[in-house]
Amino acid sequence: MKRRDILKGLTIAPLALGAAPLNSFAGSNVFKDSNLFNEIGVRTFINAAGTLTYMSGSLMHPEVVKTIREAANHFCMMDELQDKVGELIAEMVHAEAATVTSGAFSAMTLGLAGILTGLDLKKVEQLPHLQGTGMKSEVICQKSHDERYNHAFLNTGCTIVTVETLAELENAINDKTAMLHFLNIAADKGKINHADWLAVGKKYKIPVSIDIAADVPPVSNIWKFNDMGFDLVFLSGGKAIRGPQSAGLLMGRKNIIEAARLSAPPRGFNVGRAHKVNKEEILGMYVALKKYINTDHDKEWQNWESEIDHINNAVKNIKGISTKIIVPNLGNITPNLVISWDPSHINLTGKDLRETLRNGNPSIEAGFAGLPLYPNQAGSESIDPKIAATLKGENRVTITVWMLQQGEYKIVAKKLKEVFENALV
Ligand SMILES: *Cc1c(COP(=O)(O)O)cnc(C)c1O
Repeated sequence: MKRRDILKGLTIAPLALGAAPLNSFAGSNVFKDSNLFNEIGVRTFINAAGTLTYMSGSLMHPEVVKTIREAANHFCMMDELQDKVGELIAEMVHAEAATVTSGAFSAMTLGLAGILTGLDLKKVEQLPHLQGTGMKSEVICQKSHDERYNHAFLNTGCTIVTVETLAELENAINDKTAMLHFLNIAADKGKINHADWLAVGKKYKIPVSIDIAADVPPVSNIWKFNDMGFDLVFLSGGKAIRGPQSAGLLMGRKNIIEAARLSAPPRGFNVGRAHKVNKEEILGMYVALKKYINTDHDKEWQNWESEIDHINNAVKNIKGISTKIIVPNLGNITPNLVISWDPSHINLTGKDLRETLRNGNPSIEAGFAGLPLYPNQAGSESIDPKIAATLKGENRVTITVWMLQQGEYKIVAKKLKEVFENALV
């Protein structure tokens, strides 16, 4: 983590923050006052697992919620709003252009649609049936970069061609090649790095895209890949940025984004009508991004570390327990506490532990043990039985603190200690 830039902009606030996290909701009851969840019988919980879509991602900042509430009182022209917000965001992210989409996945479909159709409305209407239209129809990516979210590209009618080496890449390029796609979180899994991938795109004049959906923090990733020269960059709004969970950003070349918008609402006759973002989300995304960029990330990091330490200290001396703090190299770069234990001292599986936390009051969701953050990070026990099966006997659990609200780390620490001590043999 580079903190120089952040430190430079640090203003000395007279507030004694102590161990209070920056994501503190003190003074704001937005998330707590009405409890319709309770009323209709839907469990809410303390999120010690991370930003997972099936757990509703992240909590929007109070400023974002306020923006949404206020925006709801006014009509506006949707194109005018997207134009203006797009311009403001483009400047913040060092891109020629930007537009708010209904998530990173949406940005992937729309961006590729823009490349395929240009400003030709007839072509926009022809998607996803590419045959006989003269449109290109293939996206190339590295084999290790071809994961579930690339399905977004199939929605345009394109197919995905995978390669492993630079020679294979150059070989695979042909008249039908629409785009070269890179998955940032898998950067260390492929043989071809960012710069070489980009260079091939430039050489053959083929647009190059990158999926950085979950790759902030660090904040610098918001502009890094635009600066590097990627033609399209896809980012989620509802992960660490804590904008609306149903929003994301498409950033990049002006001509492509202009074309991409022809496949997006408010228009119909296109593949993207379902990717609707309302005015509340567009403004919410803008405010969330601004807030995220202006956050004191250094201080936020220190708070995460101190909360992780607090939880670690509560459990690490219990007989049979070992802990380690890890920071992933790529994707969701925040401190993780991995707790593992010797079953001859503690009679509990990881699954038992997660269920006990889940059934407690307050309910707590902990992270999966021993799972690589990629590509299985988003697999839940209920949606991916294969993953769940491998976890049954695991005596490990992962705790993150970046999605905790103020003071919740203490509850998590206390509860973990209690559950482990109760399970001592
Ligand atoms: C989360 C994620 C997506 C999808 O992003 P949404 O904003 O939920 O549409 C795409 N790619 C990667 C690598 C992701 O982690």
